[in-house]
Amino acid sequence: MQKVLIVGGGTGGTMLANTLDKRRFDVTVLSASAQHMFQPGLLYVAFQGASGRLLRDERSLLRRHVKWVQDRAARIDLARHIVYTESGTQLEYDAIVLATGIVTDPSQVPGLSEINAQFGDYHSTVTQSQKLWRALNSFSGGTIALGQSSPVCKCPPSPVEGILLAEEFVRKKGLRNKTRLVLFTPYPRAYPAEPMNSVIEPILKERGIEIFPIFDLDRIDQATRKMFSIEGDQIQYDLPIVIPPFTGADIVYEPASVVDESRLVITDRASLRVKGVERAFALGDGTNLPTSKAGVGAHLEAKVIARALNGEPATFDGRTHCPVDLAGGLGTFVIGSYTARVVPYPPSRIKHWMKKMMAHIYWLSLRGTLEPFFEWYFAWTAPEKLAQRLARHTAGKQFPAVK
Ligand SMILES: Cc1cc2nc3c(=O)[nH]c(=O)nc-3n(C[C@H](O)[C@H](O)[C@H](O)COP(=O)(O)OP(=O)(O)OC[C@H]3O[C@@H](n4cnc5c(N)ncnc54)[C@H](O)[C@@H]3O)c2cc1C
Repeated sequence: MQKVLIVGGGTGGTMLANTLDKRRFDVTVLSASAQHMFQPGLLYVAFQGASGRLLRDERSLLRRHVKWVQDRAARIDLARHIVYTESGTQLEYDAIVLATGIVTDPSQVPGLSEINAQFGDYHSTVTQSQKLWRALNSFSGGTIALGQSSPVCKCPPSPVEGILLAEEFVRKKGLRNKTRLVLFTPYPRAYPAEPMNSVIEPILKERGIEIFPIFDLDRIDQATRKMFSIEGDQIQYDLPIVIPPFTGADIVYEPASVVDESRLVITDRASLRVKGVERAFALGDGTNLPTSKAGVGAHLEAKVIARALNGEPATFDGRTHCPVDLAGGLGTFVIGSYTARVVPYPPSRIKHWMKKMMAHIYWLSLRGTLEPFFEWYFAWTAPEKLAQRLARHTAGKQFPAVK
């Protein structure tokens, strides 16, 4: 029996633990939190006041044969195959999978900790998202400035989703004509990937949202209610909704060279092995993989690692497949891979419904129950095939805004 230790019981760690064959692997999940959060739900708590159940007991999500240890990994000696936990326990393993995700770190931007403490945010906790919902409800007009403070963002479409849902909120409250909405971004366009920007930017413009590109947030001055960028620009705000920078887990690694300056694990983009270390893999948000930080990525990476542990050929192709809520009952997906450009997928009502369905499907997908469906679905929506199908359907036509 091979002892596999998975550090981190989030989306990727849980899926992998439930996938590995119990006849071949003795699997332990070590995770800092007893609760598992459905993170995409934070968006709806913050912008729609949703009260759905976002937290579940991690133990209840793991198959019975999987061992569960609630503790924080403090030090990981990758040469000796030992994990030292915060409570003083030592765990040994034959193979390790690092799945510790990323966390927000507002302290990197002067003034941001105070802003997040006052107005909340939608990338950390349910409490912070509820605070943002209260801030939105206290808003009576002025400028809502929303954006990401660093290029790395958990769920790249989430800034666009946030500003579109904020626009929908003020419109429904009758405040639209008293509200200026600004989306700021360090990228040169509203959505980082150009083909998808051609779908998203017209929608933002149509809804009267101003786009402030190349705005690298440098500091926030609460006294004058201004945000300043490294480039020397400024945005005046009344309600600031700022996505903080992110960092990897606070773990001491031996060797220390396995993490970069943001504490992301340096991971081979194809094999998902931790660079330079035997029997060590990494997946999900906590890696430096050049792909979207999204649950779908963690899911697909977990499958690749499961195959590699089984001794089968296994390569990750960088596939991304992020649902995007465009508000107004519309949705789309950002679909691409290392080798296929993101497909400019036209919005539709069914895609919006699929995004909303995620809240239910998520818990089943963690158990691996829906894997045959996902195998089919991801193959059917492979970016190359999807691009060909779209080209056939839309030959000579403009993409319709709504289907
Ligand atoms: C607003 C928002 C909207 C989103 N929308 C989507 C979407 O539509 N589609 C999509 O695919 N994704 C979406 N995501 C992103 C998705 O939720 C994450 O990408 C995904 O959860 C990452 O999975 P992970 O396994 O890498 O990390 P996580 O799920 O974050 O899990 C990390 C785990 O590691 C544990 N941990 C951390 N440090 C330690 C330690 N030292 N020792 C032990 N355990 C530790 C944590 O407790 C946690 O359990 C969204 C995220 C947000 C915030």
